Amino acid sequence: EAGGNKPFVELRNVTFGYDEDRKILNNINISVMHGEQVTLSGRTGAGKSTIFKLLLGLYKPQSGEVLINGIHADTITDKDKRKLFAYVEQTFHMVAGTVKEQITLFDDSISDEDVKNICITTGLDDAITSLEKGYDTICTPDLFSQGQWQLLSIARAAVAKPQLLLLDEITANLDTETEKAVLNALNNVCKDRTVISISHRVTAKTGRIIPVESNV
Ligand code: ATP
Ligand code: MG
Repeated sequence: EAGGNKPFVELRNVTFGYDEDRKILNNINISVMHGEQVTLSGRTGAGKSTIFKLLLGLYKPQSGEVLINGIHADTITDKDKRKLFAYVEQTFHMVAGTVKEQITLFDDSISDEDVKNICITTGLDDAITSLEKGYDTICTPDLFSQGQWQLLSIARAAVAKPQLLLLDEITANLDTETEKAVLNALNNVCKDRTVISISHRVTAKTGRIIPVESNV
């Protein structure tokens, strides 16, 4: 049961470097409560994306603890990960298949209705239904604009109803109008979720700002 005063995401005295002799993060502490929306802020190379990699369990800290709901991030199984968190980055990774399959990633437990609803929420449904074969259209890279692919990324992440969204510079390549559409889509999707975002743009920063400073 989530809640109380226990943080949902916690980095406790975390020290990490990709190489043993070059520390990227030096004894850092971060706490994010359930349902909180925060932005990691810091200069290029400070280690913001590295923090996401630790949360995703791709790396283990050299010392300290990386905990999600009290569980060490690197011990969470892949199956639990898709339910627990969604990671969205600047580039969309298209899978060979239909528009629908971009969103379900071939997970049969996601219904057509779920797909349609998430596309309505993210503002993609009109563009998709205007295609001759709609959601069954086979994807090619030029099927959508960059902003629409970014919305599709969000739809893919959100359809699994993850508890935690990790958003790494997701509006960095977009114009102001599209950025607004993306942020609007996210607000619709993220209402009760915990969101940690990384953004250089002031307009895209939400909630409490957590500074990340490189101590190297
Ligand atoms: P930016 O704002 O530019 O995205 P960032 O804060 O996200 O920067 P990171 O990507 O976390 O920074 O990188 C922190 C440091 O770790 C950098 O010096 C980078 O070169 C190094 N680094 C990142 N990934 C690896 C890797 N896989 N192997 C070795 N070093 C890496
Ligand atoms: Mg980064």
